[in-house]
Amino acid sequence: MQKNTPVLIHVPHSSTYIPSEEEGFFVVDRGKLQYELDVMTDHYCDELFDTGDEMVRFPVSRLVCDPERFRNDCDEVMSAVGMGTVYTKCSDGVELKKITSEHREVLLKRYYDGHHKRFEAAVERKLDENGECIIIDGHSFYEEPLPYELDQDRDRPDICIGTDSFHTPECITDGLMHYFEQKGYRVEINKPFAGTMIPMKYYHKNPKVMSVMIEVNRKLYMNREYKKTDRFEQVREDIAKGIRIVNAYYCPAEFWKQLQTREERERAFEKMSREQIWRIINECHNICGKIYISKTWQKLTGLGKY
Ligand SMILES: [Zn+2]
Repeated sequence: MQKNTPVLIHVPHSSTYIPSEEEGFFVVDRGKLQYELDVMTDHYCDELFDTGDEMVRFPVSRLVCDPERFRNDCDEVMSAVGMGTVYTKCSDGVELKKITSEHREVLLKRYYDGHHKRFEAAVERKLDENGECIIIDGHSFYEEPLPYELDQDRDRPDICIGTDSFHTPECITDGLMHYFEQKGYRVEINKPFAGTMIPMKYYHKNPKVMSVMIEVNRKLYMNREYKKTDRFEQVREDIAKGIRIVNAYYCPAEFWKQLQTREERERAFEKMSREQIWRIINECHNICGKIYISKTWQKLTGLGKY
């Protein structure tokens, strides 16, 4: 059963599906196409980020069309390497497919626009029902830098948290980083990948639409044969708990959930006794074992880290 929470999971890159009518436009042989699918797909991320919260998943491979790029190539930095919304180049710069501008537009209308419409509608529903929306943008990355990637540092973290200065509250970034580090993961912020997905309608306009990207190093959960390893379940559980903590920063206790907006909650916090505040913190403690008091909470509660 789907949970009614402000959390909305976005998984854009987990599909390997290439519709048969698109196959003829690829100029690489079968082996090379399979290699590109292998290295470029965020394998199993639809399962890895399945927390029971609502999920919007892109149904076709990013090699057909990438919904996590700006629609216009002139806004999209990756279009310089042939990897705008519709890729024309492989991850190593070799030509991937031949595409006319008319065909590009057909793909954008068929896949890109439909996905963004679904995504935006889901965010709107969350705002209506909960007063806010917390987008979790779920990805994974290859354990070594691929030639097309902007960051070529070979020393890659286990988990990369992508943020946006307007849409990612500090307590979400801090809370996730602290939580994953406690679980033994090596975490970086906006490295090797930066940013997180926000629908254009709300982009830098509505702070009630919050968003954070979680990118997982694929070596944590799959092997070089692209099969899940024994660790898969553990990583999946750890991510699910991390997402519950993100939600708990906003709904740490039952009565807390009754309050509609973050402002109402912050006001309520100001009026609470220390004892009530500790009760909420203890509930968070029950979820994650140890709770980290973010700077925002410190400001609100006057409590230090513990
Ligand atoms: Zn991805």
